[in-house]
This record gives sequence, C-alpha cells and structure tokens, in this order.
Amino acid sequence: MTALRICMVAGMMAGEVVSMAAQQPARPWALVLHGGAGVIERASLDPKTEAAYRASITLAVQAAARILDHGGSSVEAVEAAIQILEDDPLFNAGRGAVFTADGKNELDAAIMDGSNLKAGAVAGVTRTRHPISLARAVMEKSPHVMLIGAGADAFAAEAGLEQVDPSFFFTERRWQSLVKQLKKEGRPVPPRPAGAPPEPPVPVAQVEPPNAHKFGTVGVAALDRHGNVAAGTSTGGVQGKRWGRVGDSPIIGAGTYASNQSCAVSATGTGEYFIRLGVAREVCNLVYFKGMTLQQAADQVIHKELEALHGDGGLIAIAPDGQLAWSFNTPGMYRARLTQGGKLQIGIYGDEP
Ligand code: ASP
Repeated sequence: MTALRICMVAGMMAGEVVSMAAQQPARPWALVLHGGAGVIERASLDPKTEAAYRASITLAVQAAARILDHGGSSVEAVEAAIQILEDDPLFNAGRGAVFTADGKNELDAAIMDGSNLKAGAVAGVTRTRHPISLARAVMEKSPHVMLIGAGADAFAAEAGLEQVDPSFFFTERRWQSLVKQLKKEGRPVPPRPAGAPPEPPVPVAQVEPPNAHKFGTVGVAALDRHGNVAAGTSTGGVQGKRWGRVGDSPIIGAGTYASNQSCAVSATGTGEYFIRLGVAREVCNLVYFKGMTLQQAADQVIHKELEALHGDGGLIAIAPDGQLAWSFNTPGMYRARLTQGGKLQIGIYGDEP
C-alpha cells in the first residue's frame, strides 16, 4: 500500500475528510501581471511616480502570491490582484479609469478559468466598484458569459457586490486629460460630472505623458498549486470613446483567455486590433496546435501578426507547466512576474529584462 493510500485510510478511519488538494502533490505556483502598455519612457516618468507604480504592482502581486501560497485557486488570485489595481487611481481600471467623450467612466472586465473553460465578462458598467469581481460573479453565479451596462450593474447589486456612485471612479488627472484631448480635437467638452470634487484652482501636475490614455489597463494570469491557470483583465477602455465602444479586454479570446490545455493570456493595447486577431486565443492556439513555446507564441502574435496590422500593445501569458511570457511592441509595458520561491521581477521600460 502506498504512503498516500495509508494516509487516506488513516484519515478516513479518523472520520476526516481528505481533500483533493491533500491527495495531489502541490506544484509550484506562478503569476504574471501587466498594468498596461504604451508610450512609457524614462524621460516621461518622474522617480516618484515610477516608485508609486512599482509599489502598487508589488502590492497586487503579493496579494495574489499569498492566495496561491495557501493553495488558493488561480481565479481567486487573479481577482485579488486586479481588485487592488482597480482601486489604485494610477491605473485605467476601476477608480482612475479614463473618461468617455460624454464624461463617464464605462468599465470593462473579464475573467476565465482554464480548468473548466468557464468565463465571465462585463462591459460598460458604471456603478460596480470592482468590475473584475462582477466578471467572476457572471462566471460563477449566472448562466451567462457576458453582461453589459445597467443590466450588468443590476446583476452585481443582486449578487451583493459593492455598488458606488459613478463619481467614485472620478480622478482629476483623467478628467483634465479628457478635456485636453477633446479641446485638441475640436470636440465638445461635456459638463464636469455630478458628484466630482470642485475644480482645483490650478491644473493637476501631469504625472503621465500626454498620450496617457493609451495605457493603464490591468491584467493577471496565474497558475495555482493544483495546476490550473486563469486570466483576468480590467479596463476603462480608451479615453474619449463614444457610442458604447467596447475593446478587447472583456472579449473572451481577444483580450482574455485561459485553458489548462494550452495557456492563459491577458492583453493590453488598442483593442480593435486585438479583437480582429483574437489575440489571447491565438497565442494559446499556437502553443496547442503548433507546439510553440509560450514566448515564441507571444512574440509571433505581437511582433508579426499585430504589427502586420499596424496594431500596438502587449500581453502577458502563463502555461500550466509554469512557462511565463510577456511581449509588447510599445516603448513600455508595466509588468511583473513571480514564481513560487523566486524573486519578484518588475519591468516598465522596453529595455528591462
Ligand atoms: N485594450 C484596451 C481597450 O482597447 C485598452 C488598453 O489596454 O489600453 O479597451
């Protein structure tokens, strides 16, 4: 009789429940995260702001790492890390999201569980504090995969998720960035949103380059100790968007995808290109059908297929065997990776490893 079987029998005799996790050898966990890709260059990021980004990314990674370390699921880890980034006004997700041309914050998010191919996504939500948690609720508590707008917020309220006034997502920096863009393009500037704090007497310091709206989407892909991968993405989309525009982030297969058969991916960039290429699924297909390594597949999609369409952006990816990858064709991408027992690696600029 094997040692495992003896333990199980002993456990059963003692009336204990032997969990599946206890029967399986724990495998090393890993995770990879992005905070958006775009024109992020040393000259445009002052040391204080750069340190703030690194600190926030570290907190998000630590939250996910704690869960994975305790044997939690990759879905839980992805949600926990993204919640932290959604609450941080530095990122274009949750609080701090970019504004639409009408002066609203319309939030998109998706999550996918690679162990069973279940997925949840939301688009254009305006009242749910954590869109990533709403995406998870859609996946776990509804018969659907994707909900939009007021209906999605209503479902969130029914599911007991925290609801906030839309002004919760307001940040002065994003507002002034919108006003600047609309004026430059000769488009009408909407009234300052209801509930926003009074306009400051002097414009806020520009903490990001003028094309800041090009990045700040957040995404996480994780591998848990049970060998399951998951991916999630959360965004405010692109600044000045109109007509209910939705990008790739909440589109399963485009900005977000996960399968234990191949890999889990979260993308960021100009969403229209990512939708047309089905980027996240494309990476996983190259791994599954062509036998590429994860890095080869990520580079093929970003540097060949995306560039052929003149698209811009990047992605992070993880495979059930522990491979991690990132790839981007923009000057920078906020990113981090950590494997169990390893050292946290954070990168921002293109010349960092
Ligand atoms: N992909 C997002 C969108 O198109 C934006 C981004 O990642 O910066 O909505």
